Amino acid sequence: MFKSLGEKFYRWRKMLLIPATVAGLVIGANSTGILEPLELLTFDQFFRWRSQEDFSVVKPTENIDTRIIIITIDESDIAALKQWPLSDAQLAQLIDIVRQENPKVIGLNIFRDFPITPGSEDLNNIFENTPNLIGIEKVIGDAIQPPPILSQLDQVGFVDLVLDNDGKVRRDLVSITSQEFGQKLSFSMTLAVSYLKKEKIIPQLGNSKDEIIIGQAHLFPLDKNAGNYINVDNGGYQILLNYRGGETSFQTISILDVLNQQYPENLFSDRLVLIGVTAASIQASLLTPYDYSYTTSGTIIQANAISQILSAALDDRPLLKVWSDPLEWLWILTWSIIAMGVTYLLFNKNRFQYNSLIKWILFILSNSGLGLLLIGSSYILFLQGWWVPTITPLMAVVTSSVIVMVDKWKYLAMFDTLTRVPNRFYFNKVLEQTWLLNHLSRRETSLILCDVDHFKQYNDTYGHPAGDRCLQKVAKAIRMAVRHSDFLARYGGEEFAIILPKTDIKEAIKVAQRILEKITSLEIEHIRSLTSNYLTISCGVASLYINDQSSAKTLIKQADKALYKAKEEGRNRFMTYESLLVTEV
Ligand code: GH3
Ligand code: MG
Ligand code: MG
Repeated sequence: MFKSLGEKFYRWRKMLLIPATVAGLVIGANSTGILEPLELLTFDQFFRWRSQEDFSVVKPTENIDTRIIIITIDESDIAALKQWPLSDAQLAQLIDIVRQENPKVIGLNIFRDFPITPGSEDLNNIFENTPNLIGIEKVIGDAIQPPPILSQLDQVGFVDLVLDNDGKVRRDLVSITSQEFGQKLSFSMTLAVSYLKKEKIIPQLGNSKDEIIIGQAHLFPLDKNAGNYINVDNGGYQILLNYRGGETSFQTISILDVLNQQYPENLFSDRLVLIGVTAASIQASLLTPYDYSYTTSGTIIQANAISQILSAALDDRPLLKVWSDPLEWLWILTWSIIAMGVTYLLFNKNRFQYNSLIKWILFILSNSGLGLLLIGSSYILFLQGWWVPTITPLMAVVTSSVIVMVDKWKYLAMFDTLTRVPNRFYFNKVLEQTWLLNHLSRRETSLILCDVDHFKQYNDTYGHPAGDRCLQKVAKAIRMAVRHSDFLARYGGEEFAIILPKTDIKEAIKVAQRILEKITSLEIEHIRSLTSNYLTISCGVASLYINDQSSAKTLIKQADKALYKAKEEGRNRFMTYESLLVTEV
């Protein structure tokens, strides 16, 4: 009873140790950064799934952000205008048309660090008299100055973006601070804040460190290891960019249509108007989660950055958040435990556990199923605004299942599946080891061979399945009878062998006696036994000093001879090899 409880505990401890170790290993591997690229690709895939109609079952695709309208300047516009850069006169004309409709804010995503004649005076005039117009500058690396007048009026934001190692834009740089110029706000944040000011929403500091609250939106600066990033350059104040989509996620109108006044009336009223280039030949285009090789214009990325702040502040659309490290570890450990549990049940509690083909198919199916469940769960969390590890727990799932499977294979190779005691292969190994370890030991090594009496008759009377159950009981009884240091194995069909290291014949006899008693006390009915009404067993006992003259083979032969003699003498007894020698003399 205690022994089997102890064994159960041992087995469960091992079963808990596997997922914990695996989780630790994959977390360790992940911290080196090798899984980061795969995690980022999965992240990108989630963005693409979310924007696809096919996945509208899971979540309806997002509506176009109607608060923003983009005046685009694409290749065909430039061809028609026959000029680039646009002259100050053209820009002045454009802004003048727009501002007449009273937009909330106008963002001019076109560099204008020096005048481009003609019309510079007109443009300066517009700059001076349009308080809701925001211009751009570039501050990191090769700086590009803002339009001087807008700079004086403090109507400027920077357009610098931060790229991941694979060149993709997944983060938004909200502000930067330097000794040289103090704190500067990004173009997108400046526009969003100006827009929200008109809705009476003013940014405030939150309770947590560096938290910023804008309406319903809570911003936290990105940590170096936030989400699946490993040691990312998090300089300045960065947040994750929860893209809405590409150009089709925003309402656009071409610059030509605006200049020619071909657009519905009040198109710009009360909206955030973003003026920017989408022609790839002019503006440096960048990679986003939606892009494999072609690129997205900076203007569209800016629109996404503005839109995520506006919709988080006003509509409660989630900003992307991440879990703390301990929560991520728990998530990985949980998946590791689930995988171990499923594989364990598959290999131990399944009626196909002995059918290797079906078992293999089930193993692959269960792992794929778990993988899909994991990716599905991560995706659902992503839809709620959480960026959680996916590839790392996936690695833990696969590793855990494989380890449990290999462990089971090892078990199957060394243990008898019917009686759950070691098999003959394992027995031979242990005997070999015992021989080496006890070489020249001052104490003998003993061996007991047991064989169930009239077992053929038992099978014939009660049927083979009953015979199997009987063997299980016999194995259990012998296991209870032997000592902790003894090694019991199923030697053959209804034969069991026990190795007793450092045990002389006297001690071995005691063990053999206990075995006989235990079997008798089971009182397994065997009406056709010629020996008794109950099932009985016969044992042969032999002991040897291990030295250069003796061998394991001899020990087995001697125990076998003693067993044969016990059978001859009437069964339900044990015989020692020693006693045979006496009679032979
Ligand atoms: P003896 O007292 O001389 O040992 O008689 P016996 O009938 O036990 O002798 P024998 O060794 O000829 O028979 C062994 C029988 O054990 C034959 C075989 O059907 C049965 N047996 C062996 N392995 C299994 C098993 O895994 N399950 C069942 N149910 N029977 C088994
Ligand atoms: Mg037998
Ligand atoms: Mg036999």
